[in-house]
Amino acid sequence: MIRAFSLALDAPLPTANGTIDHRSGFLFERDGGVGEATPLPGWTESREDCGAALREADAADDWDAALAACEGSPAARHAVSLARLDAESRARGITLAARLADDPAGSVPVNATVGDAGVEATVEAVENALDAGFETVKVKVGARSLADDLERMRAASDATDATLRADANGAWSREQAREAFDALAGLGVEYVEQPLAADDLTGHRGLGDGVGVALDEATTNHALDDVLAVADCVVLKPMALGGVDRARDAALAAREAGVEPVVTTTIDAAVARTAAVHLAAGVPEISACGLATADLLAEDVADDPAPVESGRIRVPDAPGHGVEVSVDA
Ligand SMILES: [Mg+2]
Repeated sequence: MIRAFSLALDAPLPTANGTIDHRSGFLFERDGGVGEATPLPGWTESREDCGAALREADAADDWDAALAACEGSPAARHAVSLARLDAESRARGITLAARLADDPAGSVPVNATVGDAGVEATVEAVENALDAGFETVKVKVGARSLADDLERMRAASDATDATLRADANGAWSREQAREAFDALAGLGVEYVEQPLAADDLTGHRGLGDGVGVALDEATTNHALDDVLAVADCVVLKPMALGGVDRARDAALAAREAGVEPVVTTTIDAAVARTAAVHLAAGVPEISACGLATADLLAEDVADDPAPVESGRIRVPDAPGHGVEVSVDA
């Protein structure tokens, strides 16, 4: 069965592909398992293509045929593969985390995200995150001049003991990135996410000296191995990768290559967001993940079984992903 949903965001969010004010997707249910597809153009197929793939999967005779119908449609495949893993886990009475990994952690650390703002507002937001128990804070940069962004990062670093990350979303030139990395190394910044444009993969090589290079958008238009060859950290979005199973494979490949994986959402609803928590719990000693995104939504498809508490999310211990869909989506 397929159910469509559309959820309003708490506030409009500017992205590289325009401002979004809601997230629309589908819940896919089969054999007692529930999966979610929340496509995000730029990262996944369109909503239209996603719906078409899911209808084909829904009509398929078995799970293998249903998954095959979603090949090339990562959000649709995310939904079907998750429904299958959820159904299997529930049937065995184990959590999704235990289905994915041996000995998963009971909780995962998550980072707070501070958007573009002036110096004072940035410092205040970082302090609020620390007060709420977050130990890692990611600051969005790249929307204003480099000098202004460096001043924001300097002020945030002076004001707090948090581990700081920056996310430039590909906004910088190679020259700007070199200048930024020099300055940020002195501040103890852990890493900069996507400093250069996604297609300038080689420009990232050798950039990180004291500050790590994390690649996010680059994962959409380069093979994983090529990304792992230049990155210190890779940002994995299960919705864009075609499922938590494929994201797990990517996380293990990253570790194998000496690259730290971080799991984030594409501002997904409760089913996919919680599945990503289970995934992260199965990666030993994972660093703070971008899974504190529930508050970006004004409404959801279920009560949140995995809220953020003091900078961590506890993995639900009910069988499967542990999300009980509560709305007639
Ligand atoms: Mg990013």
